[in-house]
Amino acid sequence: MLEIKNLHARIAEDGTEILRGVNLSVKAGEVAAIMGPNGSGKSTLSYVLAGREDYEVTEGDILYNGESILEMDPAERAAAGLFLAFQYPMEIPGVATMEFLKVAVNSQRKARGEPELKIPEMLKRVRQAADELDMDMAMLKRPLNVGFSGGEKKRAEILQMKLLEPKLCVLDETDSGLDIDALKIVADGVNVLRSPDRAIVVITHYQRLLDYIVPDSVHVLYKGQVIKSGQKELAQELEKNGYAGIVNEAA
Ligand code: ADP
Ligand code: MG
Ligand code: MG
Repeated sequence: MLEIKNLHARIAEDGTEILRGVNLSVKAGEVAAIMGPNGSGKSTLSYVLAGREDYEVTEGDILYNGESILEMDPAERAAAGLFLAFQYPMEIPGVATMEFLKVAVNSQRKARGEPELKIPEMLKRVRQAADELDMDMAMLKRPLNVGFSGGEKKRAEILQMKLLEPKLCVLDETDSGLDIDALKIVADGVNVLRSPDRAIVVITHYQRLLDYIVPDSVHVLYKGQVIKSGQKELAQELEKNGYAGIVNEAA
């Protein structure tokens, strides 16, 4: 479903290369974890997947269902079924969360050639998804992410993901800022989305999240390259020994 081939990307503004030849394949039905020390390029990879303009791809390719997405803008990528939950979700003053959800869901449906959801059906779906995430509906009247706590922002991201039903989900540090109860709720929210026709990429610095979202594969990103891939045991090894061993091995 996702194939990243020798991906090089740099910061558009100053030309600093951050991704230096990333190779990664994720199949439909798979949950892949990307781990790595701070500054290794994990968030940059998620931005490049989303198509953010601040980054330039200088070499390599990103294939989604066998086709390059490099020429697609962020909206086209979303319409094609990509969903990115960012480490630092954007605040949108003046747009109530509920309004945002309605527009996001219906524009997604339009792009897929499905009829718009009428208000009662939309409300029903939002209420159910919010309930599952233990979110208060009153929160949805507030502007998106404005003044939300770290945990509330993460829940709001997962809420969007549940409602949009994407095919390829990339979650960047969804665990940061969550206490253990919130972590379990968010992990459950992700786990119910596991399905044979969907791939999920979980980016995390810590192994803890992977106790709740058990990955099929684990990849270590370091200085803009995947230096090691393995199964879930690799995450446990990292937790025990830190990144130093793997970094030395790769060097
Ligand atoms: P991670 O998510 O693994 O912690 P990031 O992708 O956030 O890593 O960052 C990788 C490196 O790129 C870091 O050294 C960071 O400082 C740098 N970086 C990323 N984006 C920018 C930017 N827009 N301007 C300057 N430096 C950046
Ligand atoms: Mg970081
Ligand atoms: Mg990051």
